[in-house]
Amino acid sequence: MNPPISQSLSAQIEELRRRIAHAERWAVLSGAGMSAESGIPTFRDAQTGFWAKFDPMQLASEEGFRADPAGVWNWYAQRREGVRRAQPNAGHVALANYAHRWPDRLSIITQNVDDLHQRVGSEGVISLHGDILQDRWLNPCPQPGEEGRPCQVAHAQAQPGEPPRCARCGNWVRPGVVWFGENLPQEAWRAAEDAVAQADVLLVVGTSGAVWPAAGLAEQARQQGAFVAVLNPQNSELDEVAHLRLLGTAAQVLPALLAPLL
Ligand code: NAD
Repeated sequence: MNPPISQSLSAQIEELRRRIAHAERWAVLSGAGMSAESGIPTFRDAQTGFWAKFDPMQLASEEGFRADPAGVWNWYAQRREGVRRAQPNAGHVALANYAHRWPDRLSIITQNVDDLHQRVGSEGVISLHGDILQDRWLNPCPQPGEEGRPCQVAHAQAQPGEPPRCARCGNWVRPGVVWFGENLPQEAWRAAEDAVAQADVLLVVGTSGAVWPAAGLAEQARQQGAFVAVLNPQNSELDEVAHLRLLGTAAQVLPALLAPLL
């Protein structure tokens, strides 16, 4: 059960709803907090976050993977299981319902590597940090086969307790997420910048604002004249960029915000 919405939060929700109702286009930038109420831990929440228990550079970097492929692979295997078991929450559903009712007005940009926005039918979700359920090669395929095509990752040979490997050259399989020190997928980044450039309102949901360049989208939106709101039960590094802060959770506030617009 979500906590009741206080009077001041209710007034903030109303203001944001007014802005959205008058916006030609708007965008959501979601982070790990969007999926927290689905039971997927965030990275930075002190009590439950992954980084409270593990060293990020070991688990989310190419160097870390090369140093301990089995350990990192198994950690991702557990996270994949957690994502598969998780169910989208009322916040994911509220955004999808809105977009269904008002096609082409809302862009969802996510830093999340889970598929919970997509599972409730949100279309065109811009995923900045990849997809934890996808595999890809660690190195570019060094021995392209017929017609110069790279070996297919789906044909990699599974090995118990270790990442699968290419039967031809031994290339490792790694999870399809963006690790620290890696570039964002160019197409997704361009789509995110375009969506923000067209948005009259940007709603930032459940992100600490500590991971760049994604966090920079909030500043970009503000500089380009958009109204920026931050939805987060805690302080975040984007609070100073926000015109409006809503101290609440995704599953609590998004349905209250959007249901009256359906
Ligand atoms: P983060 O862990 O740094 O921050 C999470 C934020 O969510 C915090 O500010 C916290 O106060 C807020 N939060 C917690 N519960 C909330 C709720 N119920 N509603 C709204 N906000 C809530 O996450 P980040 O900013 O997204 O950045 C870190 C990186 O973590 C991203 O690159 C992302 O790929 C990765 N990540 C993704 C997942 C996922 O896919 N579900 C999970 C963990 C981490």
